[in-house]
Amino acid sequence: MDTFKTPRPGESLADYLVRMRKFLQMTQFELAQAALIHSRSVGKIERGLTTKLNQKTLRGLAVALGLPQEFLEAVSKGQEVQRQQGVKFCHQCWSPGHAADPMWQNVKAKFCYLCGTQLQANCANCGELVVSTRHRFCPICGHPYKSSVNKAKT
Ligand SMILES: [Zn+2]
Ligand SMILES: [Zn+2]
Repeated sequence: MDTFKTPRPGESLADYLVRMRKFLQMTQFELAQAALIHSRSVGKIERGLTTKLNQKTLRGLAVALGLPQEFLEAVSKGQEVQRQQGVKFCHQCWSPGHAADPMWQNVKAKFCYLCGTQLQANCANCGELVVSTRHRFCPICGHPYKSSVNKAKT
């Protein structure tokens, strides 16, 4: 996806904001106008003087820069952006349209505890993350989540 917009590990809020603003070729003033905040506030953030953003500023900047608000929140807290996690499932045991077994969602789980099949969290065809087990088909390419995948145990 749009990895350019993802905050880099260790990037400060100031650096991130400058990088995104320059990418969009906006001046501090333009950004402030688009975000409906004072241009001095933008300057303060970019100089690292403001590190905690209130909700209004967060929302404004996110809209103005076309970024998910979580990104700005994460950088301002010095956290790394959590990549979206897919739903893990066993293509042997799971019946599409039903909830995935919570045992499969364990971060350390790589194999199905029932049958030993390798768990998957992506569409076998296009690699898109499976975000809901209520879907039976990949919303991106239409490939059925269960099917296909050959019997071969990996
Ligand atoms: Zn299984
Ligand atoms: Zn797909």
